Amino acid sequence: MDSALPSSEPRYSVVGSNVSLTPRQRTLIGLAEELGPRFAERAERYDREASFPFENYAELRAAGLLGLCVPEKFGGMGADLKTYSLVSATLGKYCGATALTFNMHACSTLWPGVLADDLEMTPEQRAEHERYRAVHFERVVRQGAVYAQPFSEGSAAAAGKAPFGTTAAKVDGGWLINGKKIFASLAGAADYYGVLCTEDKPERTMRDTLYMAVPGNSSGLEITGDWDPLGMRGTVSRTLLFNDVFVPDDAQMMPRGVYFQAASRWPHMFTTLSPTYMGIAIAAYAFTVRYLRGEVSGMPPVKRRMYPTKQIAVAEMHVKLEQTRALFLRMLDDARVDPSKDARLRAYATQFTVMENANDLCRLAIRTCGGQSMLKNLPLERLYRDSRCGALMLPWTAELCLDRIGREALYEPGEADD
Ligand SMILES: Cc1cc2nc3c(=O)[nH]c(=O)nc-3n(C[C@H](O)[C@H](O)[C@H](O)COP(=O)(O)OP(=O)(O)OC[C@H]3O[C@@H](n4cnc5c(N)ncnc54)[C@H](O)[C@@H]3O)c2cc1C
Repeated sequence: MDSALPSSEPRYSVVGSNVSLTPRQRTLIGLAEELGPRFAERAERYDREASFPFENYAELRAAGLLGLCVPEKFGGMGADLKTYSLVSATLGKYCGATALTFNMHACSTLWPGVLADDLEMTPEQRAEHERYRAVHFERVVRQGAVYAQPFSEGSAAAAGKAPFGTTAAKVDGGWLINGKKIFASLAGAADYYGVLCTEDKPERTMRDTLYMAVPGNSSGLEITGDWDPLGMRGTVSRTLLFNDVFVPDDAQMMPRGVYFQAASRWPHMFTTLSPTYMGIAIAAYAFTVRYLRGEVSGMPPVKRRMYPTKQIAVAEMHVKLEQTRALFLRMLDDARVDPSKDARLRAYATQFTVMENANDLCRLAIRTCGGQSMLKNLPLERLYRDSRCGALMLPWTAELCLDRIGREALYEPGEADD
């Protein structure tokens, strides 16, 4: 996004106008808006080099935002899923790779934090969880640690259809982890990798999923493969290999069985990638308006807004953006444990809409603004490439959202054809 963009213009904000926000939400969105222009200035370099946005993380840390979703009783800001999403989408307007990687970190605190508070645990499990999560939150809040969230393996596991192939075997005082994770955003940059794996035991099922924090400097952990993708290049999502990596008992980010419960009962936990792309969609629209008005800094002040075809194209983009934003905001109000079927279907529909429309808005933006707009000295071509990645991200890819909507709209749980 043009870093000079007026953040006071409601059309370019994540919520638009006339949406009621808590004072805390307003402050946190304001904080992200303050950081954003500097993130936008650095975005071109991270993209060109496919390098991690370390400077942006230093600023997120200094602003206290690494603890955004850490509950207040553990010293964090206590943001819930909606508040997190509004902040994340605001960051996404300025640097997609920063927002996307921030998602991996923030969810590593949101899931064991406010989300886990809604889940059923025995008193023993609850006590165990309190003990373990205190360790993780302490690292984030006091030491400024960054967590990644690698769960993709190139199998059906990341789609939520099979147990993870990466295993954790119980040993004295901890666990031994073995396996492989692909597309691990923050590879080499994270202090801890929040790894989803399966307890090593006979007849493993998805109920045996464990969520473990593996220190980045663990012996037996190797980062391999190169990273030269189409978009989201600053995420540095390389491959992790785990070869007998030992972690202590308190590496567990959720007690046994609780991740499976979260994935079944708190489906909105999988919507948290969409805010990044909501931000990119807004950025593409805002760029187009400013470009056609001759207001993009560093460009000659040539106006192109007087051509009827441009006006129609902007109108089409405006309609698509409003539809996307409206559904996004509606979905955030649904987010809770055990949502209704209607809300669950809307969550899939929102993820599909945000991911597909972000890319379509970028496509329309380039077609409308024309050849000069896609040169590398302007952000639009990067927005276009970054936006292409959203629909591919598991577990809720655009395809899998359609798959789930179609099936769940036509069948009740457990229902079969005669
Ligand atoms: C920029 C970027 C950053 C990423 N960061 C992370 C990260 O930090 N952590 C992480 O865990 N992952 C991350 N991912 C990985 C991402 O979530 C996907 O796992 C990955 O893109 C899947 O690639 P694949 O080719 O192996 O997919 P495949 O498993 O081959 O699937 C290809 C497509 O087939 C469909 N499909 C897959 N399984 C099924 C099924 N069982 N039934 C029906 N259809 C199915 C889906 O639509 C999917 O898009 C990242 C990806 C990108 C692009």
